[in-house]
Amino acid sequence: MCDVKREEYYDLFERLIDSMTRPSEFDREEFVSILADICELFHLSKGVTEFYRSLSAEKEGDGEVLIDYDNGHGDKVVMFRRVVTPSMTVVKSTLYMAENDGPLSETDYRRVDIRLRAMLSFISRNRLQTLVEKLGFFDDDGYPNLNFFMRYLEKMNEKGEIPGNTVLQFNLRHFSLINREIGRAAGDIVMRSYYDQIRKLIGNNGTICRVGGDNFIAVFRSELLHSVLFMIEGFPVVYDTRREKRIMVSACAGVFVIPDGFTMNKTSEIMGKVFPAAQEAKFNPDCNIVYYTDDMNVRKERFMQVSKLFVEGLEKDEFRAYYQPKVDVETGKIVGAEALCRWIRDGRIVPPAEFIPILEQNTDICRLDYRMLDMVCLDIRRWLDEGREPVRVSVNLSRKHLIDVDLLEHLLKIIDDNGVPHKYIELELTETTTDVEFRELKRIVGALRAEGICVTVDDFGMGYSSLNLIREVPWDVLKLDRCFLPVEESSDGGVTEVMFSHVISMAQSMGLECVAEGVETEKQIELLRNNKCRIAQGFYFDKPLPVEEFEKRLQMRSYHIE
Ligand code: C2E
Ligand code: MG
Ligand code: MG
Repeated sequence: MCDVKREEYYDLFERLIDSMTRPSEFDREEFVSILADICELFHLSKGVTEFYRSLSAEKEGDGEVLIDYDNGHGDKVVMFRRVVTPSMTVVKSTLYMAENDGPLSETDYRRVDIRLRAMLSFISRNRLQTLVEKLGFFDDDGYPNLNFFMRYLEKMNEKGEIPGNTVLQFNLRHFSLINREIGRAAGDIVMRSYYDQIRKLIGNNGTICRVGGDNFIAVFRSELLHSVLFMIEGFPVVYDTRREKRIMVSACAGVFVIPDGFTMNKTSEIMGKVFPAAQEAKFNPDCNIVYYTDDMNVRKERFMQVSKLFVEGLEKDEFRAYYQPKVDVETGKIVGAEALCRWIRDGRIVPPAEFIPILEQNTDICRLDYRMLDMVCLDIRRWLDEGREPVRVSVNLSRKHLIDVDLLEHLLKIIDDNGVPHKYIELELTETTTDVEFRELKRIVGALRAEGICVTVDDFGMGYSSLNLIREVPWDVLKLDRCFLPVEESSDGGVTEVMFSHVISMAQSMGLECVAEGVETEKQIELLRNNKCRIAQGFYFDKPLPVEEFEKRLQMRSYHIE
């Protein structure tokens, strides 16, 4: 038994400390090679390190076992150390010698021990950092997360590499439908493979992270934008090992092309630009890709302003119900009306297009709809009390109401508190976009009908109305959207007219009352008559009218038509 040479020992120990404490990235290969040299120097035959996330993981043997060195010469344990860190992770190290080697001299034993302790302390910290990294910068499914993305931007910024890149935030279209169609497990594969393909395209000069659910964010060289957008528009994704099953996946995205000279002080300066663009893309069914423009922030400003003024407007009673008559095209008689909201602010009439889409982005729209219903009920009650014969009035209900489980009770309370017989109320609802909403829609329409309240499917034919919508939901009235109504100068070779007449006859065979909206010309009235669509609403008769004007029409009861 003789001590190993001082110089050799110091040299190796120095290299070990150097490899563990270098500020640049840790190089495991180098580290392991030094450990091997140390083992050889001390005639050790094997060195094993174990790392466990917790005490229970240690008990279950669920951890990482790293064999740092093994010359295959023996299994006699010469040293064992176990460290439990303050965060309750466990690191263990065991050193072995060949059966007939050793023992170590006292000095060498001490040297090996110091080396072992230094290494254990390093490994426990290093693995802990890896763990923190995993927890903080990756989500449960192993995708890098938003923190990862922000850190990536900051690293780019440090190197002055932000300009010349593009940030893209996207949301997979109809992903819940895909999950339902092919099952969740296959859905996960689809998402992963969509992600992988875009990541492959982006390469090492950028990154792509998941920011929750089916939302992703990426940054990459602007030269790649065209190709990335091509993939965003949709491509078939394989989701089985035999490569037989494929599904089309597309996304909608907000894009911020970072201009030359752009300086980033905080990551929020980039996130604040790509986010509103992505939101617009998500809520605009006609447009998959929305580029950030400066006026987006002006719109955002407007959004905030409308949301604030809305509450004030409700308190100050600035909202009015305007009434647009629905007319029987055979007799000219007013058979109903639609209540349309107008916001009278500072003497100006604000049309719905300027505030309804904003209110629809949260549940403010529901408060407005209840207020409208209340105003309509007040008018009907007054007409009854004044001895006039009211007509049935329809009120628009936003889709947003469908998440309210007490919707029916709320509506009935307003109607009944005003003492209005149910037959005078009609509610207009539009098609839904998700299956959950669709189920709710079916339920609520059935329940309203049972209460004797008439229910209408509004804007039928706009967007992607499915025939299921009229087959499965028990509507009373089908209201055809303006886009379905043929106009004189139509350029589609009569397709609209053919569809118009077939949709009407189908609806009638199903026992639905038909209303055509947006009727503007004599010719269109003629067309309605020819197709036995009895009811029309539109500028041909009147625009939506203030209540006093509408009462005059009610008095008159009918329009003169040719
Ligand atoms: P909508 O329910 O489909 O209402 C019909 C829209 O068509 C009304 O626009 C009406 O003024 C317009 N219109 C009627 N006849 C004609 C015509 O002959 N030609 C043309 N070009 N347009 C005609 P308005 O009042 O601007 O309302 C727009 C939309 O805003 C409504 O579409 C409805 O979706 C929404 N809205 C209005 N008031 C309310 C409300 O109180 N609650 C909710 N949730 N939505 C409302
Ligand atoms: Mg309507
Ligand atoms: Mg409509």
